[in-house]
Amino acid sequence: MTNPKHSQPPADLVDHIKRGQKFIIASHSRPDGDAIGSAMSMALALRERGTAATVVTDGIPPLFLQPFPGVDTIQITPEVTDTFDAALIMECSEVARTGVAGLDRSPLINIDHHPGNTGYGAVNWVDESASACGEMAFTLIEALGITLTKDIATHVYLAILTDTGSFHFSHLTPRTYEIARRCVEAGADPQWIARTHYDSNSLARVRIFGAVLNSMVIVDSGRVALLSITRQTMADLQGTSDDLEGLINFPLTVKDIEAVAFFKEVGDQDWRVSLRSKGNVDTGVIARAHGGGGHTNAAGCAAKGPLEEVNKQFGELLAEAIAKKVLGS
Ligand code: 5GP
Ligand code: MN
Repeated sequence: MTNPKHSQPPADLVDHIKRGQKFIIASHSRPDGDAIGSAMSMALALRERGTAATVVTDGIPPLFLQPFPGVDTIQITPEVTDTFDAALIMECSEVARTGVAGLDRSPLINIDHHPGNTGYGAVNWVDESASACGEMAFTLIEALGITLTKDIATHVYLAILTDTGSFHFSHLTPRTYEIARRCVEAGADPQWIARTHYDSNSLARVRIFGAVLNSMVIVDSGRVALLSITRQTMADLQGTSDDLEGLINFPLTVKDIEAVAFFKEVGDQDWRVSLRSKGNVDTGVIARAHGGGGHTNAAGCAAKGPLEEVNKQFGELLAEAIAKKVLGS
């Protein structure tokens, strides 16, 4: 199964993995479905061929990812002291995004689909056309000749489902659906995966949802929505950062809204910014210009200042991105 739009893993990457006996696998801090799905699918595949593979994260995986197979085997640590035949870094534009120190004691293999990946690996495989890093994991697993088990397929499907915003975003190709089909054929249960990931809300999350929607400011003649949440509201409603996951997508269900910014207060006049958009409205460019990164339709960065100012600033930036799309430039 080949598709010229999707790259194959470099031969030296496949050789390196075939030769190795002991691997460490990491993905980005505050892991999402693609981070856990791409890392765990690789780990389970390597274990399938009798190779030792340990997945590390810098914090406890969020509740909605904990029920997925093998997530209970993840080692939670700020630093790795041992050395391995390679450290597979999945879905990270920079190795620092793992939040785990010491991975570079082993040769780094960088597997990612983010534009702006810094090419930090001894071996690098970056395919921006992949809808999820999980697609790349699937391709690599296939290149290694490892049979897709139900558990591997579950993680690949989880990665694709979540990184495409439930098959909403760009980069959806025939291959995305072909991989999803192969996963379901191998035993992945789409209903269980979607329900486990999306329908595991705490009551706090639903209350926070209300507060976040109450904060919504609409600008650019109804094309841009700005959301925010303060530390005080988070404390009052006993919310965690997991409870904020995915809330940003809700305004995009409004037909005319094309872009959203969500400001999460992390310090005094200090905000973590998430950006989302539809179609060709490029939020990645905005995030990169502000020290962050990401894709066209999903990106993030930091911002400083009073809420009214950051709302105004990002409202204007998103309006400009929409105008550029309209002009077709
Ligand atoms: P989120 O809004 O979910 O935090 O981030 C959306 C996407 O933007 C992530 O999948 C990631 O690709 C990218 N992103 C968010 N924050 C950063 C950042 O600080 N640096 C980089 N390079 N990418 C980021
Ligand atoms: Mn991803």
